Amino acid sequence: MGRFRALPALALATLTLTACPVNPATGERQLILISEAQEIRMGQEGAQQVEASLGLYDDPELQEYVSQIGLELAATSEKPNLPWSFKIIDDVIVNAFALPGGPIYVTRGILAHFNSEAELAGVLGHEIGHVTARHSAEQISRAQAAQLGVGVGYIFLPEIAAYGDVINVSLGLLLLKFGRDDERQSDDLGFRYMRRSGYDPTEMVDVFDMLGRVSSVGGGSGLPAWLSTHPDPGERRQRMEQRLAEAGGEVGGEVGRTRYLQMIDGLMFGVNPRNGFFRGSTFLHPDLRFQITFPDEWRTSNMAHQVVALSPDEDAVVQLTLAAEASAAEAADTFFSQSGIQRGRSSRYPINGLPARTGYFSATARDSTQFRGLAAFIEYREQVYKILGYTMADRWNVYADVFPGTAESFHRLNDRAALDAQPAHLEIVRIDSSMTLAQFAERYLSTVEIETLELINGVGAEETLAAGTLVKRVVGGTIPK
Ligand SMILES: [Zn+2]
Repeated sequence: MGRFRALPALALATLTLTACPVNPATGERQLILISEAQEIRMGQEGAQQVEASLGLYDDPELQEYVSQIGLELAATSEKPNLPWSFKIIDDVIVNAFALPGGPIYVTRGILAHFNSEAELAGVLGHEIGHVTARHSAEQISRAQAAQLGVGVGYIFLPEIAAYGDVINVSLGLLLLKFGRDDERQSDDLGFRYMRRSGYDPTEMVDVFDMLGRVSSVGGGSGLPAWLSTHPDPGERRQRMEQRLAEAGGEVGGEVGRTRYLQMIDGLMFGVNPRNGFFRGSTFLHPDLRFQITFPDEWRTSNMAHQVVALSPDEDAVVQLTLAAEASAAEAADTFFSQSGIQRGRSSRYPINGLPARTGYFSATARDSTQFRGLAAFIEYREQVYKILGYTMADRWNVYADVFPGTAESFHRLNDRAALDAQPAHLEIVRIDSSMTLAQFAERYLSTVEIETLELINGVGAEETLAAGTLVKRVVGGTIPK
């Protein structure tokens, strides 16, 4: 979505050119054009967007657990006084990331794949390393120094800006692919923080093994998996082993396998269909009881407060949200009376029996890019749904039929199986006798394939598990195909 790319205005705010101070974590001199205060502010703004768009996982006890481990690790870092926070995002993707200045996130997807507290600590330590080494600030500064067109085209249209924010601004920040050297440095720092906190750093080797085996787990929140921003787990595993060898006999420490597995007993596993799910290009929402079909081949993403579909050429977007207004007419008035929007032809025809207002519009972005689009407002079950499709004006004829087609596909969900869909959960079983994972899978039925059990338990199907071992199974979950 290169054309909509924008960094927060803050990144462009008064730059204080500092003279390459030495970073206490890395011992290196750094060119940083933004102050630590600016970096913290950017991170806090990004955090608000991340939490609003992706949503936090609803389990206060588990949130508290992750937070405590993170805070303990951060306290051993060179920047113990940053406003650190460690939170779990309600997302199936195997992912973890840091925002500048302190906010760090892990997904419930990655938590399901860890098998010890030390593995969790290893990933948190790595992310803390990105923050203490100020990798984001360094990258933003580099882009600014090179004037790579950062911050152009900030779009005033709120809906488009909202989309831009979610996909490009905050995610743009956190999707920064750090260079190989940055990753190595964060691995080094993570190793350091793990040891200072008393965790066994050899557990990090298992994390790299796990990441090597995880090929992007389905779902899709618009976030890439940790693997795509952290390539070469094999190479990084090797370096980790080298570090361990260099540390000699001193390594060892807390693993916390039992404690960790007990903490994640009951963790939601896989897509939560109650928040809506995709069947092909159709999005079904059992709690809100509607469905809508997006164009084939578009990249779709179900976020906490919106569903977004992006055309294969990344030049058109359809966004579904709830409007704040009480009626379709009011919501349409609010939308079309925004400054910068020119209202085109509009209609009051119901959509699949539901009261609706539909209208074409054109708009001009701050960088004078011309957009054209269709906005539809549909009343359903005491909510007003807003469907907004838009593209650059010069691409309008490509999508002129696509947008109304999508809006008109909105209707009530009647499919009983879809309405009854439930998420799956992890269950931790203590086996009373030794058995292979394959035997475990036969004795304790799971609703996932053996390959998934191998992956989340970190053992092969024919490996023998000793009596008393805690093993993950997956129970429940009915997502109709
Ligand atoms: Zn990293």
